[in-house]
Order: sequence, then structure tokens, then C-alpha cells
Amino acid sequence: KQSKIEYVLKTVEERKVGFIQLWFSDILGTPKSFQITPAELSSALEEGMTFDGSAIDGFSRIQESDVIALPDPTTFSLLPSDQTVAQVFCDIYNLDGSPFEGCPRNTLRRALDHAHSLGYSFFAAPELEFFYFDKDVSNGPKPLDSGSYFELTVSNLPSQLRKRTVLALEDMGIPVEYSQHEDAPSQHEIDLRYTDALTMADNIMTSRLIIKEIAAASGVLASFMPKPIVGVQGSGMHTHFSLFKDNKNAFYDDRDETGLSKVAKHFIAGLLHHAPEITAITNQWVNSYKRLVVGYEAPVYISWARNNRSALVRVPTPKTTNSQSTRIEYRALDPAVNPYLAFAAILGAGLAGIEGEYELAPQIQDNLYKLSTEEVDALGIESLPGNLDEAVREMERSSLAREVLGEHVFEWYVRNKKDEWSNYKTHVSQFELDRYLEQL
Ligand code: GLN
Ligand code: MG
Ligand code: MG
Ligand code: MG
Repeated sequence: KQSKIEYVLKTVEERKVGFIQLWFSDILGTPKSFQITPAELSSALEEGMTFDGSAIDGFSRIQESDVIALPDPTTFSLLPSDQTVAQVFCDIYNLDGSPFEGCPRNTLRRALDHAHSLGYSFFAAPELEFFYFDKDVSNGPKPLDSGSYFELTVSNLPSQLRKRTVLALEDMGIPVEYSQHEDAPSQHEIDLRYTDALTMADNIMTSRLIIKEIAAASGVLASFMPKPIVGVQGSGMHTHFSLFKDNKNAFYDDRDETGLSKVAKHFIAGLLHHAPEITAITNQWVNSYKRLVVGYEAPVYISWARNNRSALVRVPTPKTTNSQSTRIEYRALDPAVNPYLAFAAILGAGLAGIEGEYELAPQIQDNLYKLSTEEVDALGIESLPGNLDEAVREMERSSLAREVLGEHVFEWYVRNKKDEWSNYKTHVSQFELDRYLEQL
């Protein structure tokens, strides 16, 4: 750690950095930060900075309000918009030095420690989908291009913004594997190259900000809302996951006809079994459930397949045989998620499958969206929760969710989401006014 700290201090001096943003996440995944000057940096890196956590929703209670933000020097990076400003992610501690229970980064660290105790490291690679809209949203979201899936759009503003963003992310040390136009007009996708799950959760926090900042600089709104426009695809954040043990991909087994190891099968079974309990975490907003409907490429049914986009878990074909790239794709996630909590929950569900040696149901061959509800029922396939209310009820009953999140985050999260639902439930929408106001 000492050498990392020295590297940070040296970079700040050499690059004439004037401000360092100390980043952390609240429970909903909203980035928070305060800035310090280089004069404070050395002591901040050694001892952390005290701040009043009660000012942040879901953080500490008033009576135990002070907490410490301790920068993780491995996450230090200059920001592309202004090279005199740097960011560094923090872990939050109580004043007595114990990890603070309200810190999502700690939640994920705890889940990763559990994996390590079984010999596993956990890797993630997300596909971030989002829309570019005109910044004037007074008449609803206005797309800025009319491209579609993989369209090679002639240089228009959205594709320029996407290109600038990819270069900025690469500059910051966040490698991008692919980027492309997505299916809906003005919908774009940026896929990050896999890293360990903690680094990736940080990278998602950073990427969302960079995507938004670069768009805003051109008067454009970049939106991660899961379903901003009715009738076209919503934005997902399919994420590819793998476990490694002794530097080998633990999901791969060449003796198996599908190339999947026992570990991979138990992991998938764990995900499928616990999916309803963790959906409030992987899909946290009222709006998230407007994406999870039949007919788009978002999942509805709890199923897995080697290559079928109606499945919740897809197993992409690895690049080569004997592959380190064997992985599973969890397709429920959307880009408005708290990545720390979501990765912790997914890992928790998968590990429960491994530890409990859950049996994996056969994969589905059909496109489930072509089947009727009766046919899907006859196959014994369950659905994801249909709205936030159902999802929170499932979560509330889940000992897995409680254990993975920890008591503090669990209680606060459930309370917050119930509140969101009750606001939504009593809201009178345009849909209702249009339909009922003038009815005879
Ligand atoms: N937009 C789709 C979703 O909501 C995914 C489309 C794709 O990447 N195939 O998940
Ligand atoms: Mg993709
Ligand atoms: Mg996509
Ligand atoms: Mg995908």
C-alpha cells in the first residue's frame, strides 16, 4: 500500500493536480464526493478524512453521524474533463476503525471475501446501454439520431459523443471492449473489458459520470433510465460474470459437452433460484420493471440457455475451446443500478448455489416470447417479479439478501423502496387522465 500512496502523491505533484475528489457511493448507487487539496492528501491517504455521514441518505443515523472516508490509492485517476482534478474511491469506516455497514463498497468487499474464502475471485464485464436525448426534456425525451442495432451511423452528434467517451475512458485506464449503436433510436452501448468485480463497480460509477459529462458539454442529456420510451427497447446492463480459482477459469470444463464446469452449473442454479429475491437490487426503480416485459430483449422468465436472448442467464460461446473466457451473462441488470450491491447479490446467489450444490434445470431451447403464458407455465418456468412492489416483498423475505447486504443496508433499502412504491401507487398518471377523465 505504501508504494501506491507514494505513486499517488508523486502523480499529484508532477501533474500539478489542484483538487482531489474523494468518491463514495450512497446506498442507491448515487456517486457522492468531496474535494480536498494536495496539502491534505498525504494525511487523507494515511488516516482518512472525517465527514458527517448523516447528511447522506441511507448512510449513518444522526446520533452516530461522523464517519471516515479512507481513499483506496489503487483507484486514483485524473479526470478527463479537467486534468488538474483527480478522483479516488474511498472505503467508509466508523470512528473506531471498523468498516461502516452503510458503505456499498464494504458490502461488495464482504461478498468478495466470502468468495476468496472458497478460493474464488469474481470478475465482471458490463454492457452499458443508455440514450442520448436533447437536453430540453419539457416535452418528453427527444432522440437525437434514428440509428438502430449496430448501425454505422454517419458522423452525427451521438456517435461522436460515444467515440469521445470511449477515448476518455481508455485514457483513465478503463478499457472498453466494444461500443456500438443499440437497437432503439439514439440508444448506444459501451462494453467494458472485464476486471475484478470491485474495480468494475468503481468503473461503472466513473463511466456513468463521464458519459453524462461528455454529453452535457454538448448540450445533450445521457440517460440511464431503464425504459425511457414506450414501444422501443429499454436500456439494460447485461453483465458477464466468471469465477477464477488458482488463475484458472472455474466455469470451464472440457470434459463437459457444454464446456461448463459443475461450479458454473451450480452458480447458474443459484442465480435462477434466488433471482426473485435479488431483483429489487438488480432492478431498483419503479421504471426498471417497464423494461422487463415480454417482446423486447430484456428477460422476464427465470431460465437459462446457451444462446437465447429471452433467457435470464445466457452462456455466450467462448472465443476458443479450452477457454479462459467461459462466462455467464446475467441479463436482468439495468444501468441505473447500484453496481456494488448488485454484484454482491449476484455473487451471493451464485455462491449459495455452489455451496448448496443446487441442481441446474435443463436449458430452454425455445424463444420463450413466442410461447403463450400457458405454454411457459407448462414448462414450469417462473417469472421475475412484475413490479417493484413484488420485488421488494420477495427481498424482504430473503435471508440471502439480508445476509449479503448486511442488516443496515438491507433495512434501509427495503424501507426506501417501499416508500418509492407507495409514492408511485398513489400517483395519478397521464395514462389514467387520458383514459378516464372524460369517460361517460
Ligand atoms: N436493450 C436490451 C435490454 O433491455 C438488450 C439488447 C441487447 O443487447 N441485445 O436488455
Ligand atoms: Mg451487447
Ligand atoms: Mg446491448
Ligand atoms: Mg448482452
